[in-house]
Amino acid sequence: MIVALVIGHEKDKPGACNEDFVICEYEFNKKLTCAVQEHLVETTDFCVMRVFRRTDYSNLPNEINELNPDLILSFHANAFNKEVSGTEVIYFHNSVKGKKCSEVIQNKILKALGLRDRGVIGRSRLQAGGHLLSNTRGVCLILEPFFIDNNCDYLTAQANLSKLALAISSGIEDCKNIIFNN
Ligand SMILES: [Zn+2]
Repeated sequence: MIVALVIGHEKDKPGACNEDFVICEYEFNKKLTCAVQEHLVETTDFCVMRVFRRTDYSNLPNEINELNPDLILSFHANAFNKEVSGTEVIYFHNSVKGKKCSEVIQNKILKALGLRDRGVIGRSRLQAGGHLLSNTRGVCLILEPFFIDNNCDYLTAQANLSKLALAISSGIEDCKNIIFNN
């Protein structure tokens, strides 16, 4: 199985941030994807690639499709008003495998972090994330494990970073059966 771990945003436009701890999505997910890749390389024979945006967001699906992944995980973190908390995983609304894989990964993340369950969310082409979800081949999920602007969420994620990486890795292993068995 070929797995693409896509780091959301980029160095100069790092996504949502936590001002108190001076950390943004990009930096956090650079570390997280590194740990996920390490686990998978140790425990599976999957080909696991970390993907950084090379051009602009509109071209990201093309950059990912060139790698021919079976499973694509795009790593983000939510932000709202510093108070909202919780975990969600997003999939393309009419992908049956996407929905099943997002449920597996959502449950693993919930166990690792213990934050509020905001559920799995199916999105269509024109909704947030829909460009990536609808234009990539292979099962594509967007992970929002916590709210980075919420100090409590952020500290939970930071303190449990390796647990979170292990949970996501284990979820990816379970997704293999969903992706290859009909
Ligand atoms: Zn983001």
